Amino acid sequence: MTRRPEWQRAEVHVGGAWRIPRTAATGIVEDPATEEHVGTAAEAGVDDVDDAVRAARQAFGDWGRSPVKERVEVLRGWHDLLLARHDLLVDTTVAEVGAPFSVAKHAHVGMGLAVLEAYLDEAASVAWEEPVGTSVVLREPIGVAACITPWNWPLYQVLAKIGGALVAGCTVVLKPAELTPLSAYLLMDAALEAGLPAGVLNLVPGKGAIVGEAMARHPDVDVVSFTGSTGVGAHVSATAAQSIKRVCLELGGKSSSVVLDDADLAAAVHGSVAGAMLNSGQTCSAWSRLLVPRARYAEAVEIAGQAVADLRIGDPRDEATDLGPVISEKQRADVVGHVARAVADGARVVTGGTVRPSGRGHFVTPTVLADVPEGAVILTEEVFGPVLTVESCVDQDDAVRRANATPYGLHGAVWSADEDRAFDVARRLRTGQVDLNGAVFNPAAPFGGYGRSGNGREMGRWGIEDFLEIKSVQR
Ligand code: NAP
Repeated sequence: MTRRPEWQRAEVHVGGAWRIPRTAATGIVEDPATEEHVGTAAEAGVDDVDDAVRAARQAFGDWGRSPVKERVEVLRGWHDLLLARHDLLVDTTVAEVGAPFSVAKHAHVGMGLAVLEAYLDEAASVAWEEPVGTSVVLREPIGVAACITPWNWPLYQVLAKIGGALVAGCTVVLKPAELTPLSAYLLMDAALEAGLPAGVLNLVPGKGAIVGEAMARHPDVDVVSFTGSTGVGAHVSATAAQSIKRVCLELGGKSSSVVLDDADLAAAVHGSVAGAMLNSGQTCSAWSRLLVPRARYAEAVEIAGQAVADLRIGDPRDEATDLGPVISEKQRADVVGHVARAVADGARVVTGGTVRPSGRGHFVTPTVLADVPEGAVILTEEVFGPVLTVESCVDQDDAVRRANATPYGLHGAVWSADEDRAFDVARRLRTGQVDLNGAVFNPAAPFGGYGRSGNGREMGRWGIEDFLEIKSVQR
């Protein structure tokens, strides 16, 4: 694996300039497929966060007051430069996440850029000034946004967050995940080239417990937008509460794919397997539970088992590969631990299990579990790996009850020959997004959670509004 010069970074970007962090520290970036060190990134400290927040505050005056059309114009230039660097962004995603080439190209980078473009298109749909009786309601940028993102879809998650913040007129301090900072550097490079004014976007890579914590606590940050695990999200909320700042949370999930008795079973199961295994199952919205009618359970288990056994695991750079590694050895141990616990709870392994595929890299054998007893931990806790459970439902009501029986509510799917019937079931699911019959991704539609999946909304008009304050002026 080449160690590209674009991946050898040691600096933070604060107030329009690159500089070595005050800690003078760097961390290593590993390729999870080979365990080789492919890059480096700065490990900033609390003082760097202070500097970045100060720079963002200073830049907010002009950027926050600039006409939205001007902001969109600059950001369109950014989008176009990113598009021109598409191949580098794909290579970087393959290297830092271990995502297979086609997933990196179409999902990580393709969808990430589509989300940014949708923000630019949807800027005009925000009610920036809205007459209400004798009042005019103004929507204004909230101020300095601290943006904290996870490693599973690094480029996509950063764009889904800072795209909305920048269109809104906020200035940003960004902390990408420690394991995957490289794509954030490339986004920063392109933003500077596009002419984003100094201090509007500041990049402080580093450890969550230090940099993220300092951002959440900082008294001069107006909003924390956090994407990550529910546990850390709760901690960030509590930390931020000391200064009454807004906190937008995009957290974990445990989503179900509900197959109704009139659905095309093979299409529904294949679609559900794809949704569960995408990005090695390291997707907050993964349909990690497949709920099927009792009469078709055995058939569904067989189709799912075969579809998963057929997946090609291996080198993410090989275009024929379906499934890459998980992000780290720690993640591998977590996923395998979940499978072992499910088996101890009575689940049957249809395919896969805890055995490691041969060779280097943090690979997990993709797994299908059947006959999982109700109450087993694996039905309610996020696994974040390539593991699918198949459950048998007495009827439609039982399927809805089971799908809703988790503390989360991020995503879901319904499959039926009758779209109205599928829509009806979608209404009953306590979750932020539902796809009917494998519908395509809409980058302008809101994405976010119910319950412990969070309280924010990203994408489209809603992803901009999370970064706006509301003011009424009476005439
Ligand atoms: P995580 O451990 O919660 O980390 C998320 C981010 O928070 C990272 O940048 C991390 O920094 C930082 N962080 C850690 N401790 C912190 C602290 N005390 N204060 C402030 N920030 C802190 O999550 P992850 O393992 O990276 O990501 C996987 C999780 O994200 C899953 O639960 C997944 O479902 C969820 N997710 C949700 C969505 C959504 O839109 N709802 C999307 C993607 C992922 P370090 O990198 O240094 O640890």
